[in-house]
Amino acid sequence: MKRILVVDDVAEVRMMIQQVLKRNGYEVDSIDNGRQCVEKVLSFKPDLIILDIMMPEVHGFDVLKILKANEATRGVGVIMCSAKGYKPDQDTAMQLGADDFLPKPFDNQQLVDMTKKYFGGHSAVAIPLIMNTAETAACKPYLPALDTSRAYFRFWGTRGSTPVAGERYARYGGNTPCFEVGWGNEMVIFDAGSGIRELGIHLMKDHLRPLHIFIGHTHWDHIQGFPFFLPAYVPGAELHIYGASGFGKDLESVFSGQLDADYFPIQLSDMKSKMEFIHLKENPVKIGKVLVFWEYVHHPGAAVGFKIEMNRKKITYISDNEFLQGYLGSPKDVTSKLLAPYKQVMDFIAGSDILITESQYPNDEYAQKIGWGHTALSNGCLLCKLTGVKHWIVTHHDPAHDDEFLDRKLLLTKQILTDIEYPIQVCHAFDGFMEYV
Ligand SMILES: [Zn+2]
Ligand SMILES: [Zn+2]
Repeated sequence: MKRILVVDDVAEVRMMIQQVLKRNGYEVDSIDNGRQCVEKVLSFKPDLIILDIMMPEVHGFDVLKILKANEATRGVGVIMCSAKGYKPDQDTAMQLGADDFLPKPFDNQQLVDMTKKYFGGHSAVAIPLIMNTAETAACKPYLPALDTSRAYFRFWGTRGSTPVAGERYARYGGNTPCFEVGWGNEMVIFDAGSGIRELGIHLMKDHLRPLHIFIGHTHWDHIQGFPFFLPAYVPGAELHIYGASGFGKDLESVFSGQLDADYFPIQLSDMKSKMEFIHLKENPVKIGKVLVFWEYVHHPGAAVGFKIEMNRKKITYISDNEFLQGYLGSPKDVTSKLLAPYKQVMDFIAGSDILITESQYPNDEYAQKIGWGHTALSNGCLLCKLTGVKHWIVTHHDPAHDDEFLDRKLLLTKQILTDIEYPIQVCHAFDGFMEYV
C-alpha cells in the first residue's frame, strides 16, 4: 500500500484530501505545518507528499527545498498543491524538484488522477492551469456594465479666481468653475468659468438639448468661459441663463459687456443661439424633474449658492462663500452671536447629502485675505459640522495652490475635522471629477 503525507494548514482541505485518497486505497497521514515535515517524513516514510504552498511559519517552497536538500528525503515524490496556481509559481515548484502541481480548487477526481499518474498506474488528463471545477463551471459570467442613465454631477472647472496651467496643476486641473448635473433628459450647468469651454465641445457631439446655465455671481472666474462656449454659436440652440438680480447691471448687460468690441472680436448679438436671460425669482426653479433652489451667500456683490434636488438627493453647490468673516479663532470657541448672520446659509445647507463648497484659504493665509469673500479652512470644517453634512467636496481651489499644496491642505482638512470630532467624508474636486448619485 502506497503511503501519502498531506501537508496543509487548512484543516478542511487536509481532511478532504485525506478522505479521497483513503477511499482510493492509499495509506494517508497529515500534518498542518511545514516545520515538522522532515521529521514526519522520516517517521511515516511516505512515497508521496501533497504539499501546500501558502502556509504560515514555513513556506511550502522552503519545505520543498529542505526535503530536496536532505539525503534521506530527497527521493520522496512531491505534488505541490495551491490556490496560487500562477505559471511562475508552477515553474518555481518544478524547478525546485516537485513532480507535479495541482491548482486549488480541484475536483476529487483530479486529485486521484494526478496521484495515480505519479504512481504510474494511469496517464491522467492534463490539469489546466486554472481549475475549472463543477462549482466554477456552473457560474454564469458576471459582467457588470456602467449604468450611465443615472443622475450624476461632473466638474469641468474647479479653480477659483483665474485659470492656471502646467505640470504643477496636473492633478486638480486649472479651469475656473463650471459644474454640470444631469438626470434623464435634464442637464443643468452651474457657472461659466473657463471649464465651460470643454463642456461645450463635449455637448457638440450630441443633439443639443435646451441648456440651463445658472450663474452664482458674475465675477470673471464664473463667466469668462462663456465667449468660448460653442453651443452659444449654434443657430437654434436654446440657452436659458439664470442669475441673481441686484447687480449694478442686469445679467444680459454683464454678458454683453464682457463681449464688448474692446475685449472680444465677436459680440453677444453675433451669437446665433436663442438666448434668454432670467433673473432668479421663483424658488426652486424647476428644470423638468430637477429642482434648483437658490440662496444668497456671503461674497462681494449679489452672489447666490444652489441646492439641486434630483433622484431624492440634495446636492448643495456654493462655489464662493465667506463663512464667519474675520474669525481667526478655534472652531471650538465660536459663539452663537458670531453665527447669527449666517443662519440663512446654514439652514439652506442643512439636510444636504453632499456639500460642494470652498474653504479656499488655510488659516494663516486667511488672516491676510479677510473680506475677499472666501472661507478659512477651519471655519469651513465647522460649517460642515454645524449643518450636519456628511459628505463634503471642496472646490474653488486657489490659483496659488498647486497639487502638492492641495494634497497637504486636504490632509490638514481631515485633521481639523477629527479635531472638532466631526470626521466626515471629504475630498477635493478636480476638473473631470464625476459621480453618480
Ligand atoms: Zn469665484
Ligand atoms: Zn467671486
